[in-house]
Amino acid sequence: MRIKKILLLFMSLFLIMGLVQVPANAKGDSTILKLGVNDKLSKVEAVSVKGTYYVPLRALADELKWTLTGLTDGIHVAGGTGSLTLLSKDGGAVLKDGTAVPMSTFVQDGKLMAPLKLSVYLGYSISYAGDKYLLRVKDGSAQLTDAAFTDKYAAELKPEAPVAPTNPATPVTPTEPGKPGRTVYLTFDDGPSATTGDLLDILRKYDVQATFFMLGNNMNQHPAQVKRTAKEGHGLALHGVTHRQEKFYASPAAALAEMSGANATLKKLTGTSTTLIRTPYGSKPYFTKSFRDKVLTQGYHLWDWNVDSYDWKYKQNSDRIYNTVMDQVNKLKASKTNPVILMHDQKATLKVLPRILEKLKKDGYTFKLITKDMEPLNFWKDKR
Ligand SMILES: [Zn+2]
Repeated sequence: MRIKKILLLFMSLFLIMGLVQVPANAKGDSTILKLGVNDKLSKVEAVSVKGTYYVPLRALADELKWTLTGLTDGIHVAGGTGSLTLLSKDGGAVLKDGTAVPMSTFVQDGKLMAPLKLSVYLGYSISYAGDKYLLRVKDGSAQLTDAAFTDKYAAELKPEAPVAPTNPATPVTPTEPGKPGRTVYLTFDDGPSATTGDLLDILRKYDVQATFFMLGNNMNQHPAQVKRTAKEGHGLALHGVTHRQEKFYASPAAALAEMSGANATLKKLTGTSTTLIRTPYGSKPYFTKSFRDKVLTQGYHLWDWNVDSYDWKYKQNSDRIYNTVMDQVNKLKASKTNPVILMHDQKATLKVLPRILEKLKKDGYTFKLITKDMEPLNFWKDKR
């Protein structure tokens, strides 16, 4: 504990100096902090990515009365005691005196996210105390000391505890690891969709729970379905935003931005975020080490599957889907391996799902949610 405090102190010093190299794993789950602006607590939320806190640039500029001017190659930011130009395409920033400084940006929920330390170059100072959930940007007008500030806003500063993806209204059964070969993990990708409601009805009818790897864009299109999925105690997980290979796998940063973006959408809709991810088309071959290092060091756990239903391929052939699933499930049974079944949140799957559920139940399987505490199953055997 004492070591942790000393570490935090050092980290806050680095942050004030604008270096911000907090080890990615040292930040736990509380990666979103409410930003203090001088003596008040703003509505701006700062998101920690690899130990650097990012804020929506537009919202920060509004709070601090900065002027943003769009340029062909970036954005000019004027405010405080200076100005700088934030170059597009991660080109860093150029200060008023011409000095180039590295600075990366990304887009989350349609908002340009910039590192908070940008404000240091405009004459502000930053206070950070992770143990007090304090992240505060100040100029000469701030009256409160940091201690007085954290006292004043103690109740509001504390981030919501990451909520387990279960319905708080229903009794929570601790997920003990299932009996080998007799526990099945159903997973549905690509939703939510127009037919998620029907899918949830089927799951409810059979009293089984599943894990949903959802897309940010689809969550925004079907917010009520996301909320219902959460309310009924299913597992909430991420599948990125665009599902477009050339976008998601464009770079490790792009992949991370998609997962962070989808997580922000999930949080906005359900109040809950997650660390469970599945990448579009599965993690092999594209989600190579550099991608995994970038994304998994943020605390995400990568999940693929060991049973592919091919429900996207045999849309017109329920028998084929059923046999494809059961053949693989039976093979895994022989080696006492729990099946993780890939299916899709789509209309064609609704037709065959009851049959699969009936058979699995009859064969004595129990249905469980994937949780962050399980050793992730993925094609790279990456256990992070
Ligand atoms: Zn997919």
